Amino acid sequence: MSTKAVKPLSPIIGIKDVTTPGIIRMTLKQELVETYRWLRQYGLNDSHSGNASIRNGDAVWVTPTGACADTLTETDLVACGFDGTIGEHASLDAPLHIAVYRSNPDARCVLHSHGPNTVAITMDGKDFVPPDFEGAYYFQRVPVLNIPYQDYLDESPGQVSRALTRHRIAVVRGHGVYACAETINLAYKWTSSLELSAKTAFIAKLSGTVPN
Ligand SMILES: [Zn+2]
Repeated sequence: MSTKAVKPLSPIIGIKDVTTPGIIRMTLKQELVETYRWLRQYGLNDSHSGNASIRNGDAVWVTPTGACADTLTETDLVACGFDGTIGEHASLDAPLHIAVYRSNPDARCVLHSHGPNTVAITMDGKDFVPPDFEGAYYFQRVPVLNIPYQDYLDESPGQVSRALTRHRIAVVRGHGVYACAETINLAYKWTSSLELSAKTAFIAKLSGTVPN
């Protein structure tokens, strides 16, 4: 666990000149909500699954429990804290998100998703080794954590945060995917890349072009 001080990010991104037409003002909260919606839109979550957060200095903003990706807005995000403070109605995974930030001082975003190809192909509980070029380039090996369903809330913050100190992304067997990164878009990239690699591996196995 690290308590290293970090430089707060500007709350506004994507701005070169606010007076220039076509330049979109977007806050980190808005970007997180948009990314959470994309996870649903592109089949990495269902309407209400998964969760997401951003860290800005000592503040951590987490999606609410039971959040609907189709209707969530930035005002629905729940204020939590790097110190472990959990806001009312925050996702049940909020302690996990905070544990990841405390173990990964450079992380500014954590995304949790339920990509079906990734979840299905790791049901055997074995670490996933991407067979395709890009998957192998980004991940080499993706750890699969075997956490009994009944122990999930107690065990997952420690196990996932430890795994993400050594890997960009980790899978909890039978459940879903956790990614952290220095930016929201990079966490989205790791999440999307793993799901496509798992899909490719799945098709390759069905095709008999890689060993089962
Ligand atoms: Zn989940």
